[in-house]
Amino acid sequence: MAEQIAPPPAPPPAAPSRLVLLGHPVSHSMSPRFQQRALDVAGINVQYIARDTPSEQLANVLRELGEGRAAGNVTIPHKEAMVRLCAHLTPLARRVGAVNTFWHSERGELVGHNTDVAGVAAAMVALLYPPGGADVTLQRVGVLGAGGAAASALVALNAIFRVGDSPHISIFSRTRDRAEKLIEFLDVPARVVASADEAVYDADLVINASPIGMLDDSMPVSPASLAAHASVLDLVYKPGETMWVRACRARGHRAEDGLRMLVEQGAEAFRCWFGEEPDRNAMWSVLEPRPFV
Ligand code: NAP
Repeated sequence: MAEQIAPPPAPPPAAPSRLVLLGHPVSHSMSPRFQQRALDVAGINVQYIARDTPSEQLANVLRELGEGRAAGNVTIPHKEAMVRLCAHLTPLARRVGAVNTFWHSERGELVGHNTDVAGVAAAMVALLYPPGGADVTLQRVGVLGAGGAAASALVALNAIFRVGDSPHISIFSRTRDRAEKLIEFLDVPARVVASADEAVYDADLVINASPIGMLDDSMPVSPASLAAHASVLDLVYKPGETMWVRACRARGHRAEDGLRMLVEQGAEAFRCWFGEEPDRNAMWSVLEPRPFV
C-alpha cells in the first residue's frame, strides 16, 4: 500500500478578504502574479500581495493578519517556523514538518497546511506519465538536497508508489547530517549517499531539490552522470528553464523544471482558500509562453 495522503481540508467558512505572501526576500516571487490572475479570472474580488517579512517579525505580522482574517502563503525562510506558530496543522503539514499555506478558522485560529506535496506530486506524474506517453517504471530515484523541497518530494514519492514496488531512493545533501535527519524525521525508505554522482547512479528519476541553478547556470550534477533512461525533475525554475533541464533534454532525457510544481502548489492553495479549482492555464500563461499541457 502507498502512504495515504490525507484528503485536502475543507475551505474556511468565510472566504479570505485578502491574501498575503510572507517571505524574506519576497520581491522575486511569481506567486502574486499568477494568483492574482486566477482570482481575476474567477471573478473573486481579493488582492494577493507579497509582504517582505524578516523572521523576527513573523509572529507579529501573523497576529495582525489574524485580526483581518487574511489567508496566504509563506516561503523561504518561514516554512518550518510556521509549524510552531500555527494553532492547527493539517495532517500533511505535520507529516512534512513545513507549512506553505495558511488561513484562519471560524474561531480566528491560524491553520497551517502544505501544498508543496501536491505540487511536486503533480509535477512527477506529468513528467513520468505524460498524456499519450509511455509509462516509466521506477526502480531507483536520486534526490539532490535535503531541505523542505526534498521533504515534499520524498513524501510525494512515498504516496505515489506502492511500498511493495517502492523505488530505491538515494539522497545526497551537501550537509550529510541534514539528509540523515530528514529521512529519520520523515521515516521514509531512503539511504544517504556521499556524492551527487552516487545518488543519480542508474536512477530512473532524478530530482534536484537544491537551489543549484537558480542564480546562475551551474548544475547539481553533470548530465553525463545520468543513466540514459533517467527522467529529470528540477524543482528550480527560471525564465527559459534552467541550464540543467536544457542540457539534460539535449542529451535525450525527459526533463521538466519547477514551474509546474509552482503552479500546482498554488492551485491547491487556491482550492483550500475558496473551495474551487482555479484556472491553471490562466495561472501558467502569465509566467511562461510555453503551453500548459
Ligand atoms: P532549503 O531548505 O534551503 O534546502 C536546500 C538543500 O540544498 C539543502 O540540503 C542544502 O544543503 C542543499 N544545498 C544548498 N546549496 C547547495 C550547494 N551549493 N551545493 C549542494 N547542496 C546545496 O531549500 P528548499 O526550501 O528545500 O528549496 C530548495 C530549492 O527548491 C529552492 O531553491 C527552489 O528553487 C526550489 N523550490 C521550488 C518550488 C517550486 O514550487 N517549484 C518549491 C519549493 C522549493 P545545506 O544544508 O548544506 O545548505
